[in-house]
Amino acid sequence: MTSSTPASTTARSGGCLCGKVQFTVTGEPDYPHTCSCRDCQGLSGAPMMSWVSFPLDGLAWSGAEPSWHYTWPDSKRGFCPSCGSQICALDDGATSIAVTLSALGNPPDLVPVNQSFRETAVPWLPQVPDTRS
Ligand SMILES: [Zn+2]
Ligand SMILES: [Zn+2]
Repeated sequence: MTSSTPASTTARSGGCLCGKVQFTVTGEPDYPHTCSCRDCQGLSGAPMMSWVSFPLDGLAWSGAEPSWHYTWPDSKRGFCPSCGSQICALDDGATSIAVTLSALGNPPDLVPVNQSFRETAVPWLPQVPDTRS
């Protein structure tokens, strides 16, 4: 018996802006990062999105499930059909799901360690340094 809860079993809850889509994720957060690809920019209406992955088997929808839009033949984005919040990204056959840090409420312990698609980043914002060790 241990006195503290391992991070891998800590449940985190998140959801969209209007509260229709809600979820919990359990398990070790993997690779928090930002992405400034054209898909993230177009879907969010912002210069970049921020992501972190969790084991797919630790995901549970507690509100409505998101609507899905395929950005690639085998990769889709989940969003709230009411308010449009971007919630998650899921590849067909994947064992993990990426959720947006914004859907999780930007938890302070999940700090992006890298930025993807720097080549399409806007020139008027600093980029996230690569702090992976
Ligand atoms: Zn919503
Ligand atoms: Zn992206």
